[in-house]
Amino acid sequence: MVKPSALIRPLVHRLHAYVPGEQPAIPGLIKLNTNENPNPPAPGVLAAVRAAADSRLRLYPNPTASKLRHQLAALHRCRPENILVGNGSDELLALAVRVFVEPATPSGRRSSRSVVQTFHPSYSLYPVLAAIHGSRFNAVPLNPDFSLPRLPTLKRGQLWDFSAPLSFITTPNAPSGRGYQTRELQTLCAAQKGVVVLDEAYVDFAPQNAMKLALTHPNVLVARTFSKAYSLCFLRVGYCVGHPDLIAALDKIRDSYNVNGLAQAAAEATLDNLPYYHKCWQKVISTREWLTLRLRRLGFDVLPSQTNFILTRPPGPSARDWLQTLREHKILVRWFDAPEIRQYLRITIGTRQEAARLVSVAAALLKKPA
Ligand SMILES: *Cc1c(COP(=O)(O)O)cnc(C)c1O
Repeated sequence: MVKPSALIRPLVHRLHAYVPGEQPAIPGLIKLNTNENPNPPAPGVLAAVRAAADSRLRLYPNPTASKLRHQLAALHRCRPENILVGNGSDELLALAVRVFVEPATPSGRRSSRSVVQTFHPSYSLYPVLAAIHGSRFNAVPLNPDFSLPRLPTLKRGQLWDFSAPLSFITTPNAPSGRGYQTRELQTLCAAQKGVVVLDEAYVDFAPQNAMKLALTHPNVLVARTFSKAYSLCFLRVGYCVGHPDLIAALDKIRDSYNVNGLAQAAAEATLDNLPYYHKCWQKVISTREWLTLRLRRLGFDVLPSQTNFILTRPPGPSARDWLQTLREHKILVRWFDAPEIRQYLRITIGTRQEAARLVSVAAALLKKPA
């Protein structure tokens, strides 16, 4: 009898899978751990999803998300050929690895074309995508204040590789919340021989974006998602923008029906309701600024954020203890067990009420007035 585990590739045995934030079903839980938007989708979006849920469910959806791509092209003043829609932007990041990066050979040898590169700390999916593909992962440390290092830089023996076939840069970054200037990104993209994916998952909460780089540099892709700013995690829609040749290559290897019909209907209706979302973002930003101020007053070190979350070093007990204590008070935040950020908590900006609850619980724990 064959052992099932003997049927699995060694690479998959060794793989450390991506760990998503928890989605626990605890009644009354204040959930500030996965950067979801506290505002519901626009009423028109919910109506569009309900209207699409009829006998059409037996049919395959539009294979190219044609209407949505036309709407996105109008929004970004480009052509539909510049756009690919994915089952969440995570799918597009995975496709980019498969299109631009050589996997290791069966003997485990890796060529210089077998590198995925990023700054560290950043989105923890990138190293997993590199590992699945068998490629090398080059993580170049950010400065201690999480700004971009001056390049080329040698830190702890790690050099930015200007020939890497694929580099991911989250901008604004997660989990730091820090924004990068389009100017500094442009310098980097222009010097880079391989593809640069600018992952703008949080860009709608920031004062600048780098979309123009995707439309002016043949090696730049900008990835966006409907999950964070558009309150649509549940339906999984993301897209990327770039040169038609890069987009066509990604398009070639994706699943034929990668974006389901309800998701297409919801994303189309989202773009018909943009003023609603602009108001939601303003609410999130004002709550973010309020929470930053109040936590600082309690002695938290809060990094300035351009996203819908903050990274903060709490006073007193360790961040890990805070995670546990807040959880006992039914407030769920995120803590990462990585050396550079172990002293920090990442806290999603919820409603004003949720933020006020967090402040009052923290004040009580510190025996200070809220
Ligand atoms: C949330 C997130 C994504 C994933 O978005 P989906 O569209 O939900 O797959 C990608 N990149 C970063 C940096 C994120 O935080």
